[in-house]
Amino acid sequence: MIEIKDLHISYGEEVALQNVNLHIEKNTTCAIIGPSGCGKTTLLYAMAGLIKSNKGEIFINNQKLINVRKNTGVILQDYGLLPWKTVWDNVSFTLLARDISKHNARNKVENILKDLGIYEYKNKYPGELSGGQKQRVAIARTLALEPDLLLMDEPSSALDAMTKEHIQNIILNIYQQKPTTLITITHNIEEAVFLGQKIVIMGKAEIIHIMDNPYFGKENLRENIDFYRFCLEVRKWISEDI
Ligand code: ADP
Ligand code: MG
Repeated sequence: MIEIKDLHISYGEEVALQNVNLHIEKNTTCAIIGPSGCGKTTLLYAMAGLIKSNKGEIFINNQKLINVRKNTGVILQDYGLLPWKTVWDNVSFTLLARDISKHNARNKVENILKDLGIYEYKNKYPGELSGGQKQRVAIARTLALEPDLLLMDEPSSALDAMTKEHIQNIILNIYQQKPTTLITITHNIEEAVFLGQKIVIMGKAEIIHIMDNPYFGKENLRENIDFYRFCLEVRKWISEDI
């Protein structure tokens, strides 16, 4: 469970967030959508414990967030893979830094790479992969740590339309197989409606509207006209410069 109370964050004179209040139930999904520069990444960094607020507080599972949490997984916008490590090593090195046997780590990495369909690339380097493959490696690396809170910053923004849908399907499948609290930042309305049970719409530095998404998780959602109708409902709240 995440509880954000009256959060304010500024970078010098620039107010990035003001008056942000948000409640997200444990093991539900939430999509945060808004135009470029409205403060989405700042909000994600704050929930990850990576930046401090000027005012207000964040509680995760009733504990006040004061630092980076071990059980929070973060997937940043640029994937954050290490170019000099192979796919296998990119996924395994974070695990080996934890208290886990080599044998267990090996099994875990193998299973996750297979689940995400990237096992065949295990000996390749990030530079040899497509955007969609790199994003799958980044997701694998984060999932290997079995986070109870997963924060993703624009997980498909760098990908072409078909790959975007593929990555979104993978993320939804992962959630449905093993629910965690999943927060997706996006500027894409369809992605928000596909991945968010709750949809949080931001304007400049603040939340302007919150909607519950009755279509979340329905089968063949992209073939359902109601999905697009709901996208239009969301669109009405979003300023034009998205
Ligand atoms: P979004 O992710 O929605 O595009 P950001 O959270 O990255 O928005 O940025 C919100 C605002 O804060 C923007 O106006 C941006 O220019 C500003 N900003 C972000 N990071 C910094 C920083 N490190 N220093 C100064 N201003 C920043
Ligand atoms: Mg951003």
